[in-house]
Amino acid sequence: HATDYVLEHKVTLFAPGAQTGKRVAIVGAGPAGLACARDLRRKGHAVTVFEAQSQPGGLNTYGIAEYKLKSDVALAEVQDILDLGVELKLGITVSSIDDLLARYDAVFIGVGLGSTKRLGIPGDDLPGVTDALTFIAHLKTHPYRDTAVGRQVVVIGAGNTAIDAVTQAKRLGAATTTIVYRRGEADMPCYHYEYELAKRDGCGFRFNAAPQRVVGNGSGTVAALEVTTAQGNEMIPCDMVIVAIGQGDRTELQWPKDDPRVFVGGDCANGGAEIVNAAAEGVAAAKKIHERLTNG
Ligand SMILES: Cc1cc2nc3c(=O)[nH]c(=O)nc-3n(C[C@H](O)[C@H](O)[C@H](O)COP(=O)(O)OP(=O)(O)OC[C@H]3O[C@@H](n4cnc5c(N)ncnc54)[C@H](O)[C@@H]3O)c2cc1C
Repeated sequence: HATDYVLEHKVTLFAPGAQTGKRVAIVGAGPAGLACARDLRRKGHAVTVFEAQSQPGGLNTYGIAEYKLKSDVALAEVQDILDLGVELKLGITVSSIDDLLARYDAVFIGVGLGSTKRLGIPGDDLPGVTDALTFIAHLKTHPYRDTAVGRQVVVIGAGNTAIDAVTQAKRLGAATTTIVYRRGEADMPCYHYEYELAKRDGCGFRFNAAPQRVVGNGSGTVAALEVTTAQGNEMIPCDMVIVAIGQGDRTELQWPKDDPRVFVGGDCANGGAEIVNAAAEGVAAAKKIHERLTNG
């Protein structure tokens, strides 16, 4: 790919602009925040990015399945942006933007979505039940052998994240991996090619099966998932359940909707889309911020 060539040959794509003396704070070092940071530096504004995690990149570093994007590639792309002179403060969870508004000329919020929604059925807190984002983040930040995977894995949900989780579980060595989805095949929200990929990996699919409870084995871990089907209730044996039913909103940080110094983009603004959308929204926000900082 073109970007691989750029990274391998250390091609310099962008240069910082002449200093304007204006300062912008960015909350969140995901694709939205980083794209915004890059374009603001190109215009010569001083940019500080605040990131809660210990590594930048957002879901590019912590969420996208390994076979699509490895963390080291995501981090190399971040480095190109930092090389423009963007200041990055890691391990800082911004809980209020009031202080930032007092110290910066504008603030961009790109905090993404929150954690995976809970199943809300009995047994969903048993050891052996995990959520897809935690499972994938662990896999992406540890050697493969350090990520625990069951022998019989059930993944609940049928979006692209569910496909990532089920294929990753299979590739980690699970004997059986099964997507359980309460609706039919035609209703699956995942892309068709992702579905085909999971089938090629040997993953199974149970459609029109609504999860009712996670059943323990008596010693506290998972033994089965009880589902309701058109034929009645059924137990699907499993020793690991991965929940992939979508991310909730990020509610920890609130921001004023009518302050002209505050800009928002990426998943937290569009409800969850793709990397390209987040980056495009970061770029669009940088343009608006630049206009505001130069024209008042
Ligand atoms: C499992 C999974 C797989 C995906 N696969 C694909 C794919 O294959 N292709 C694709 O195009 N898209 C994919 N997506 C979607 C894509 O990852 C997102 O659309 C994109 O990452 C959104 O970028 P963002 O910058 O808005 O948010 P994020 O990437 O979520 O980044 C937000 C950042 O803000 C930080 N943050 C949050 N709150 C605070 C705070 N209070 N203070 C400081 N920092 C904070 C977070 O730690 C995070 O680093 C996938 C998503 C998931 C969940």
